Amino acid sequence: MTKRSAHPLPPGSTIGIMGGGQLGRMTALAAAQLGYKSHIFTPETDSPGAQVSAAATIADYEDRDALKSFAQAVDVVTFEFENVPAESAEFLAEHALVRPGPNCLAIAQDRLKEKEFINNTAPTTPYRKVTSAEDLARAADEIGRPAVLKTSRMGYDGKGQVLIAPDCDYAVAWEEMGAEVGILEAFVDLEREISVITARSPHGGWATYPAVENRHVNHILDTTLAPANLPGKMADDAIAIAHDLADALDLVGLLAVEMFVTRDGRILVNEMAPRPHNSGHWTMDACATSQFEQMVRAVCGLPLGSVECHHDAVMKNLIGDDVHAWPDLMAEAGARLHLYGKAEARPGRKMGHVNRLYPKGKLPNA
Ligand code: AMP
Repeated sequence: MTKRSAHPLPPGSTIGIMGGGQLGRMTALAAAQLGYKSHIFTPETDSPGAQVSAAATIADYEDRDALKSFAQAVDVVTFEFENVPAESAEFLAEHALVRPGPNCLAIAQDRLKEKEFINNTAPTTPYRKVTSAEDLARAADEIGRPAVLKTSRMGYDGKGQVLIAPDCDYAVAWEEMGAEVGILEAFVDLEREISVITARSPHGGWATYPAVENRHVNHILDTTLAPANLPGKMADDAIAIAHDLADALDLVGLLAVEMFVTRDGRILVNEMAPRPHNSGHWTMDACATSQFEQMVRAVCGLPLGSVECHHDAVMKNLIGDDVHAWPDLMAEAGARLHLYGKAEARPGRKMGHVNRLYPKGKLPNA
C-alpha cells in the first residue's frame, strides 16, 4: 500500500528520485529552488541527476538493502524512469511514501497492460499480444498491414520496434524484435503527434499544460511546438483524456500522455508515462511553473503552481553530436540552453535541449 499523507512535506524535506537521468536532474534542480533536497537512486556512476543532488545511492534497482536504506533516508519517493521494477516500487512503498504509486509503474512499463488499461478510458490503435513468429503472422492477418511490432517491455525511443510491411518475413521480423513477448499494433495513418502533461495532487487538484505537437526523427523526439495548433475541441478532448487516465490511475504526480491525431480527425492514445516528459521541457522557460516544479509540488502535497504560459515555445532536443553546437547556442540571443552533464555524445543520446520563445500566437511552422 502506498502511504498517503494529508500534510505537505515542508521545504528542507528530502525527495528520493528513482533514476539518475536528465529528468531526475531537472527535478532535483526544481526541488532545490523550493528549498528541498534530492537523493538519487541509480545504478549509474556520475549520473546527470546525482551531479546536482544532495545525496546518491549507487545500486541496482533490485538491491533490497539499498532500497530500504534509501527509503528510510528520504521523505517521499518518486520516479524519473518508469522501468524501475514494479516489485522494487512495491517494496519501497512498504518503507516510504511513494508517489506516484507502484500501480502506475506496473501499468506504464508493460505495453500490453498499458493498452488494456487505456482502452477502458480512451481509444488506442487495434493491437494483439504476440509470442511467436506464427502468432505474429496470425495477428498481422487480423489487424492488417502495415503494422508495428514492439517489445512489450523496456521499449523507448523506437527501440525494439519493427515495421511489419505487407511483404514481411515474419520469422525475420520476430528475430529482429528480440523479445519473448511482443505487441503488434495497427499502423496509424497519423496527421500529427501530440501530448498532454497533467499534474494531480494528493488532495485531488489538477494543473494541466496545453496540448503540444511532437515531431520525431528516427523515432526520437526532435522538436516540440507549444501549443499544438489544434481545433479547440480537439485540444480540450486531449486534456480530458489525460485527466481521465490520471484519475483512473489515482495518480499523485505527473502524467504525460502521448497521442496520435489521425488523418480522419480522431485522437488515439499511444502511451503514457507517470513522470516528467521530454515534451514538457518547454515549460521550463515559457510557463509560470515548469513541469519539474509541478512534480515536486504534487509529490510533496503542496499547492500546484500556475500553468499559465507567458510565451509560445519551440523545444529542440540536442541529440548526440548536436550538442557540439553549444558555443553558438550560448551566443544566440534568446536561446535557452539546458545541458545534462553527460560526458559522451553517443548517437541517439539526449545531451540537452534548447527552448526558443515566441510571442503568443506567433509560433513558426505551426
Ligand atoms: P513509441 O516508442 O511507442 O512511443 O513509438 C515511437 C514513435 O514511433 C512514435 O512517436 C511514432 O512516431 C511511431 N509509432 C509508434 N507506434 C506507431 C503506430 N502504431 N503507428 C504509426 N507510428 C507509430
